[in-house]
Amino acid sequence: MVLDSEFFARYPFLPQSKEYVISRKLELTPEFVEAGFSRAQAAIVEGKLPLFARGVNTAYDREIASYSACRMMVSLLNSSYFSNRLAVAESKRASAYLEREKDADLLVAAQSIGIDAAGANGAFQVGMADYLRYTPRDVHYKLVNANLVKGKVAGLTREKLIRIIEEAVKKRVIAGLGAKGEYPSLVKEYSKKLSQILPKAEQGVIQIASENYPPCIKKLLSDLAISENLPHSARVALAIYLIKAGVDDAKIVKLFSTAPDFNEGTTKYQVEYIRKKEYSMPSCATMDSWGICVATCRCFSPLKFNPKIHGRYAEESMRQAKETGYGHQDEESGATGAGKQEDSEKGEQG
Ligand code: SF4
Repeated sequence: MVLDSEFFARYPFLPQSKEYVISRKLELTPEFVEAGFSRAQAAIVEGKLPLFARGVNTAYDREIASYSACRMMVSLLNSSYFSNRLAVAESKRASAYLEREKDADLLVAAQSIGIDAAGANGAFQVGMADYLRYTPRDVHYKLVNANLVKGKVAGLTREKLIRIIEEAVKKRVIAGLGAKGEYPSLVKEYSKKLSQILPKAEQGVIQIASENYPPCIKKLLSDLAISENLPHSARVALAIYLIKAGVDDAKIVKLFSTAPDFNEGTTKYQVEYIRKKEYSMPSCATMDSWGICVATCRCFSPLKFNPKIHGRYAEESMRQAKETGYGHQDEESGATGAGKQEDSEKGEQG
């Protein structure tokens, strides 16, 4: 594949795209800034970015430059919620293009973003470090279930490789957003305009008395508060926990309103459905297998967590995990490390 303007328009967040902008001496013209404004608006308000039509050369430069302008505008908003909305929308847009790429081109895209990837004919492999860094917190991506060959995770499908690239894109887009800098005055003007039309979603965050919640639930709540995109299993576990903790549906829906892909109707339906079905709280072992356990509390179930009894075990395990870098939760990758010991689960139940 030739790394040309069309490629950079599809993937404007790549370092090579930045080099292209510099080599072409692309200026932020009013047309490009306006396109950046539309891009930011679509990403944040609609949560979706349109794909461009192929074959019109000049449009490629606009796509690439609009990404830069959009980044600047969102940086000026200095909001983790808006930054996450942009990162998720950009990663989904990239994913839509990746799905159309041939295997060889998919690898070029993966390698261009810095992923140690190889393979062919629908079977790929990714270096373990990148695998851990970019796989979602999901049982299907746990290292214990992976095929490890000489430090690489082998036998990955196209879908899994695309999911890994998507996560890498999200992290790349979000890196540096919100950084202070000198921006062109037209960008500042448009950023101001943007702040006036965007929903005040952050104000929707509500406080609930959570001091007695277990570390896994606190982590999910704090991820939500900064608009992290929680995997489906994490959302289900959190909703079940909050229902069992006596939080009403309206408050739970409000808590989820900071999710970058929030849809009020869908969330309301799902919360009501979980309540109606009276789902049981997953055990700590299940939470661990889903990659959302962040400590060893010895309480068997998050619902049985009692800070007076289990708090010291939780703190100690998290301290050890931090020191050794080998524990339940890798902040960056979301992947899990040491497995949960079933015997400790059976220990001190509250
Ligand atoms: S051990 Fe249980 S309560 Fe503690 S963080 Fe893990 S899942 Fe949550």
